[in-house]
Amino acid sequence: MCAKYDTVIGLEVHAELSTKTKAFCTCDASFGGDPNTHICPVCTGQPGALPIINHEAVNYAIRAGLAFGCDINRYSRFDRKNYFYPDLPKAFQISQLDLPLCVNGKIELSTGTTVRIHQIHLEEDAGKMVHDDYHGQSWADYNRCSVPLIEIVSEPDITSAEEAAEFVSKIALYLKYLNVCDAKMQEGSIRADVNVSLKPAGSPVLGDRAEIKNLNSFRSIQRAIECEIERQTKILDDGGKVVQETRRFDDATGTTSSLRSKENANDYRYFPEPDIMAISFTDEDIEKAKSEIPLLPHERVSKYVNEYKLTDEDARVLTLEKYISDFYDETVAIYPEYKSVANMFLTEVMRRVKETDDEEIPVTAADFAKVCEMADKNTVNRNDAKTIIRYMFEEGGDPMEIAKKNNFIVEEDLSAINDFIDKLFAERQDLVEDYKNGKTSVFGFFMGQTTRGLQGKATPKSIKECLEAKLKNL
Ligand code: ADP
Ligand code: MG
Ligand code: ZN
Repeated sequence: MCAKYDTVIGLEVHAELSTKTKAFCTCDASFGGDPNTHICPVCTGQPGALPIINHEAVNYAIRAGLAFGCDINRYSRFDRKNYFYPDLPKAFQISQLDLPLCVNGKIELSTGTTVRIHQIHLEEDAGKMVHDDYHGQSWADYNRCSVPLIEIVSEPDITSAEEAAEFVSKIALYLKYLNVCDAKMQEGSIRADVNVSLKPAGSPVLGDRAEIKNLNSFRSIQRAIECEIERQTKILDDGGKVVQETRRFDDATGTTSSLRSKENANDYRYFPEPDIMAISFTDEDIEKAKSEIPLLPHERVSKYVNEYKLTDEDARVLTLEKYISDFYDETVAIYPEYKSVANMFLTEVMRRVKETDDEEIPVTAADFAKVCEMADKNTVNRNDAKTIIRYMFEEGGDPMEIAKKNNFIVEEDLSAINDFIDKLFAERQDLVEDYKNGKTSVFGFFMGQTTRGLQGKATPKSIKECLEAKLKNL
């Protein structure tokens, strides 16, 4: 298919940082809480209250910048962005305009597209309006005021709705691995503004764009872009001109509508924030921040493949979610049978954790390690190990206790092993003779027959010992 227009997309992704306290005061920055219980004179903008920078938030922002290949500005400053809205009691937002913390990064997508990062800056979130349609009243909840945010601004390098969704989900995944953002879309931890324009296919000149604000799920990002491309295609096909404006996406109807045009765009009257000192970094600061970056998804994949000898596919699947990769790491730290743990996890645990949205595994890594080991050592047979895992998920409990309660422990009856071997030797006198004449390779045949004959009721170790003892005494 030869498309008439090229799609050009640039994203501004906002991510709430998971610091304990807010960006410029010591209030609790966690999500929720009764309305207006996480507030103080600073984050509600009382006269005379002075902000203090939260260095943890600065470190988190820099960690993200370094992970996305940014340069860190050695000198960085905050600016006031002035506007009035009921969820913003100060009537300004502390943000960064032209001296942001991080500049010039990039993120690679699976399509081969490299998306350049223009900048990552630190700013504060606004509060929340709670509308009570029934009583026709609106309430302001300032708990979220001044929770730290990073804004990741891309260059217009994205070429489709799918790429935009991948870009945001890659950011979400990396921020989780970096331990700087919980990336819970349903709690608004990540929101994106998307800028979309079309241009004649192959043209070097960018077209006029529309910006769609405040999208808070991968699905709505993708849908909003698709519907915006359709709208702009119609306008251009009819010989019209796309108006540069801000639009809103309505999830229910799947359409965008105009919020405000460029002519009546906000004038934020930015000026340098006078109450917060500029930040400067030394090379040592940057090196220290680099050394604090944990293993990122692609690095964990390499480690699983090169050190643990997992397949590419298994390594990829295990790292798609941080909590899963963390659980795997914790398990193999206790029981380092990398492949066996991976197999048991992928076949027995993965689908169970995927059934729920909460990122929690109701079984401890220590207990999971124990079941894997019990199956490997044939303390219980493999199918019973799987049943134990099912019970652990459904009812909880210690794997050994569950095994005992259900009679899963493999009973080692040495006389049964010896009886079986006697019978086998009687039937295959010919092979016993071969063995005596030095053809020791028949040992494997005896092992296999005995193992199969005892149907998992004996460990390979005991079978081997009984066989060796008998053959020695022939
Ligand atoms: P503004 O100053 O108006 O906010 P910026 O230059 O900061 O504009 O760009 C904001 C976002 O819009 C960036 O993510 C950028 O990549 C994107 N963008 C800029 N021009 C275009 C365009 N013609 N089409 C699509 N996205 C664009
Ligand atoms: Mg902008
Ligand atoms: Zn506060």
